[in-house]
Amino acid sequence: MSYAVKECFLTLQGEGVQAGARAVFMRFAGCNLWSGREADRATAICRFCDTDFVGTDGEGGGKFADADALAVQVERIWDGGPDQRLVVITGGEPMLQLDSALRDALHARGFRVAMESNGTLPALPGLDWLCVSPKAGSEVVQRSGDELKLVWPQPGIDPAELEGWDFANFLVQPMDSPARAAAVEASIALAMARPKWRLTLQAHKLVGLP
Ligand code: SF4
Repeated sequence: MSYAVKECFLTLQGEGVQAGARAVFMRFAGCNLWSGREADRATAICRFCDTDFVGTDGEGGGKFADADALAVQVERIWDGGPDQRLVVITGGEPMLQLDSALRDALHARGFRVAMESNGTLPALPGLDWLCVSPKAGSEVVQRSGDELKLVWPQPGIDPAELEGWDFANFLVQPMDSPARAAAVEASIALAMARPKWRLTLQAHKLVGLP
């Protein structure tokens, strides 16, 4: 199978339980909840996306003929020896492309494989870290994992309902928008009212990392 990758770069994980960890971020092109075109945003299921996942023209991106070719690219970008290797696979929606061949090729090179998904497709088994970020108006089928990351506020989502899902960590993250100050306030209010939730911030944006 071939893979379409928007971008692939070295950074520090900015969000969630693994915040601060050195990681290769690999962003697959394409999502099943929005085309990525501004003209379609108003009619998309997911309308608050802050990510460019269209095409393969970003830093380190491209079309890769097979799993080995893409794993070689991830290893080249890691450029940091054999220890603590971490790749975070995101999108777009990564489960549109991630398969066992790529997982195994990354494992063979010593990478822990983390994925951040919208949860509308079942996650590939055998991943080392699974983060699901639910989107209002979509049907989440992946209701277990390491981290549930709720971008907040989202009308149409009831945090109390999500608390029954099988995640090790429940995180609330303020939505990045012009109304960010209100989103921070709402996220703090949620974490204060419902102790299962912990506040996470997009630290990479605060310190100027990609
Ligand atoms: S599901 Fe994620 S990648 Fe897709 S449009 Fe929404 S925020 Fe963007």
